[in-house]
Amino acid sequence: MTKHNSRLQLTLEAVSTTAVRQVLATLLLALPGSAAIADWLGDARPMLGTEVSVYLWSADAGLGQQAIEAVFSEAERIDRLMSTYKEDSEISKINRSAAAGPVVTGEELFLLVQRSLDISVLTLGAFDITFDSVGQHYDFRSRQRPDSETLAAERENIDYNYVQLDGATNTIAFLKEGVRINLGGIAKGYVVERGVDILRRHGIDNAIVTAGGDSRLLGDRRGRPWMVGIRDPRIEGEVAISVPLADEAISTSGDYERYFEEDGTRYHHIIQPATGGPAGGMRSATVFGPDAVITDALSTSVFVMGVDRGLTLIGTLPDYESIVIDAEGRVFYSDGLRQPTGDAAE
Ligand code: ADP
Ligand code: MG
Repeated sequence: MTKHNSRLQLTLEAVSTTAVRQVLATLLLALPGSAAIADWLGDARPMLGTEVSVYLWSADAGLGQQAIEAVFSEAERIDRLMSTYKEDSEISKINRSAAAGPVVTGEELFLLVQRSLDISVLTLGAFDITFDSVGQHYDFRSRQRPDSETLAAERENIDYNYVQLDGATNTIAFLKEGVRINLGGIAKGYVVERGVDILRRHGIDNAIVTAGGDSRLLGDRRGRPWMVGIRDPRIEGEVAISVPLADEAISTSGDYERYFEEDGTRYHHIIQPATGGPAGGMRSATVFGPDAVITDALSTSVFVMGVDRGLTLIGTLPDYESIVIDAEGRVFYSDGLRQPTGDAAE
């Protein structure tokens, strides 16, 4: 289960988990008349351009497996709706047509775009789903980035105010030709939030659903908190900080997941809307709190806003906390995580 290349590492020691599983399975098999076997179950699959994983405790392995499948199906359904890489997704349809006039949009996508615009207002434009007019010109695998003319032109199309929602007609319209939207900074949070809802409905009480850098924890690890590791942004496979959490969401945005380097500049996938270039000053931003849609969008936002502005914003949100690692590798914590004496926990 433990994936060393993901930003959040669940420190579930594989060996001891397996050992516990074997002992439990043996014990349960020995009980007369116990058809169902309680166990930790998990699976991970490449999806949404990253990895989606589900790990849960189930009193019945068969039902647990069904619950896991239901989460993967849901992730696939959301991807079909919201992926800009799929020509026939609803979001691609909007990107093709919304500059010409209002496009009728399903409730789910409409609501997520609405939440994205709310976060744009909250973050004074650091979070902006119209980043994609520039973002579409990046291909990190083939080390492609927009040339200066393209950047100068497309930068003009980044502004969430160009996205107009009409709740009366359930339509989305773009006020300018060339505007595009991309939910890459919020959709994985939505996937894990929906995934956990599905698990709850399957009667699961203890689980983790992860999509890339976004995790949603359901309950605890049966009597103790989950230990969620925040990756060391520069050493693959190393955990920088472990956080004990239960029943919460945690998201990390980092500059190391999708990037290439050219002439000493690291071109990564988190874009500063004000310039259209890669957001500087940070290596990673982690946010945790009750809702994965919010932690996902806020981790991207705090990354863009930088240490001071980012942590100041988090300080205004009572349910959310943040840990950031800046470009020099220094670690900063939001106020709620500091010692009451006022000493920085740094
Ligand atoms: P991931 O889990 O994909 O790394 P993050 O939460 O770190 O997601 O967000 C990065 C993604 O968010 C990018 O790949 C891109 O799709 C999108 N994005 C980049 N810059 C912004 C921005 N300023 N506002 C909103 N979304 C952004
Ligand atoms: Mg995010």
